Amino acid sequence: MLLRTDKPNIRSYALDDLRAFFEEKGEKAFRANQVFQWVWQKHAKSFGDMTNLGKDLRAFLQEHFLITELDVLSEQHSNDGTVKSAFSLSDGKVVEGVLIPADSRMTACISSQVGCSLDCKFCATAQLKMMRNLNPDEIYDQVVAISRQADQKFGQPLSNIVFMGMGEPLLNFKNVSTAIQHIMSEQGLGMSYKRITVSTSGVAKMIRRLGEDRVKYRLAISLHAADNEKRSQIMSINNTNPLEDLADALKFYYAETGSPVTYEYILFRDFNDSEEDARNLIRFSKHVPSKINIIEYNPVEGSPFRQTDPERLERFRRLLENAGITATVRRSRGKDIDAACGQLANKTAS
Ligand code: SF4
Repeated sequence: MLLRTDKPNIRSYALDDLRAFFEEKGEKAFRANQVFQWVWQKHAKSFGDMTNLGKDLRAFLQEHFLITELDVLSEQHSNDGTVKSAFSLSDGKVVEGVLIPADSRMTACISSQVGCSLDCKFCATAQLKMMRNLNPDEIYDQVVAISRQADQKFGQPLSNIVFMGMGEPLLNFKNVSTAIQHIMSEQGLGMSYKRITVSTSGVAKMIRRLGEDRVKYRLAISLHAADNEKRSQIMSINNTNPLEDLADALKFYYAETGSPVTYEYILFRDFNDSEEDARNLIRFSKHVPSKINIIEYNPVEGSPFRQTDPERLERFRRLLENAGITATVRRSRGKDIDAACGQLANKTAS
């Protein structure tokens, strides 16, 4: 559905601003609370849905605002239960989100931008150009849609949210933060900060900002190499945010928040899976309390990288373990539908 209108999206208003707008227009301010609840908690798709409001007020809302809606364009189901959804936005652009079911958790992997301005060499999203940032409501609505899938398909509530879909969340910080506030709010989804993880490619300045803001949600770093030369080869952000700057930012973040971080490390055969690579990773990981997720690589079309073999993976893991580091191997999910880590590229929607 394409919308062309000058009316503002009602969900771009904070509650106080909405109350002020109502007062200014001669409406009772407390009605704004009800409207806020409809759009954030009860997921109203139109003003007509707001059944506890009078006809005149609904007409007033219709006259001044629009409600945007995220449509599920397509769903793909993996053999392992993973569900990848393509979501169509009100301007016709498309982003993807993934539901990853496991025994004890239901995780939603959420996108923060349409495309990405960065160019990590192993990532399919990098092949799309950066189109725009997602608005807070578009980020939030992905969570709502995936949460419904968890309920309907698995009979379980959503337990975790990771910002590891399309885009670099810290380059859309304001909108991601607003979306997280709504996700955590009692007037929204009421989810605990402990269940939310923001994953960044390592924007040092913004990691400091997270520290200054003393955010409570979890932070993950897509590290993938712990020496500058190698990291710059696969992640150009390392040219402007080298490991030294990243380490300083993380020390500041940890000093302010007291929260450990998680390093994501995709193992590429004969690139970052040697003993020396493990030693570099061990050294880097000691800057702040942390744990490491070793991730199996999912080949992306046209990529020069290959998956490491099981023996090398196990040797790498053991080297970390012997150094006293908590390291978990993550087998990627949804590979058969291109829903695994680094594979989101709107293939089905394009
Ligand atoms: S890994 Fe993340 S930051 Fe890097 S190109 Fe892909 S989406 Fe962007």
